[in-house]
Amino acid sequence: MSQAYLSIQGVDKSFGSFNALKEINIDIQKNEFICLLGPSGCGKTTLLRIIAGLEKPSHGRIIVGGKDITSLPPAKRNFGMVFQSYALFPNLTAYQNVAYGLQGKKFSRKEIDEKVKEVLSLVDLMHLHDRYPAQLSGGQQQRIALARAIVLSPDFLLLDEPLSALDAKVRVKLREQICELQEKLGITTVMVTHDQEEALTMADRIVVMKNAEVVQIGTPEQVYDEPNSPFVADFIGSINFLEDEEYGGSIIQRNMAVRPEHIRISGPGSATGISAIVKHVEFRGAFYRLLLQTVLTGQHLTVDVSSQITHHLKLTKYAEVSVEFPQDKMINFPSETMVVGA
Ligand code: ATP
Repeated sequence: MSQAYLSIQGVDKSFGSFNALKEINIDIQKNEFICLLGPSGCGKTTLLRIIAGLEKPSHGRIIVGGKDITSLPPAKRNFGMVFQSYALFPNLTAYQNVAYGLQGKKFSRKEIDEKVKEVLSLVDLMHLHDRYPAQLSGGQQQRIALARAIVLSPDFLLLDEPLSALDAKVRVKLREQICELQEKLGITTVMVTHDQEEALTMADRIVVMKNAEVVQIGTPEQVYDEPNSPFVADFIGSINFLEDEEYGGSIIQRNMAVRPEHIRISGPGSATGISAIVKHVEFRGAFYRLLLQTVLTGQHLTVDVSSQITHHLKLTKYAEVSVEFPQDKMINFPSETMVVGA
């Protein structure tokens, strides 16, 4: 990999005796889209605020483009920021909100007008330029907030849960629009989210955090297919942790896990499978999610099955089935990490 563009080096942050961040090291490449993902309180926003200069690290450095910016105030760091609340000026139109940050800088009226129109077109809202925030939908307001963040051609973009106030459909649409825009502008972006689906669909790489620490950094595929701990496996996607017991003549150990979509289901009485009973059937649109309980040991399993197989095998409540765990889909953890949710 080439030298990082945005580098977070050994960052600690304490609030009194409380450690909000411990020894954070992340190297971000130019044009990369990074998601900071983790449960509430793990330190995501604090880290974003440190990158922005809104918070000072207790130790460590922030480097951008080879320059140490750790002691620069926010106004001297060239970044754009979008928050969960759109934070637009209610008494200014969409156009004026975007133009606001350009005034007082060395731009002529004509230049300001061109830049504002350009970014309003980029977020596809030129036609609503004279509306006030109250006359715009949540998704439109957030697009104005984005336009305002990018109009100054920042070196990097910081997004703090920008989609979480929006309803599901708008959120998905705006996800796509943010990714498109980020790609088009080639702007290095760090987004905070606690929504694993958002991180999986948007990020080039995901930084998974837990209790003030980074626990894994990888592409969406890496953190999903090769989680390095039960915590990551459980936080990203659904997972079955298998109990240590004898299944079909072989010992399956406690430190193994399998995703619901990788468990194979067949009719009852298979020679190699384990007998289980369907306890609950959930229709998920594109597939069915079944909750099974194994007959011998009573272990609960979550299994995702296509509609076709569900109907073919008549997988209704109380149906008996056989389950198999393909060896190549099993996820292994070192046994000492097998404490979930600790
Ligand atoms: P969420 O998803 O809920 O926003 P987060 O991962 O962004 O959570 P932070 O907001 O970074 O978490 O907070 C991390 C921890 O630091 C929390 O326990 C929080 O209470 C604490 N914290 C944050 N800011 C301060 C502060 N100014 N003073 C004291 N504690 C703080």
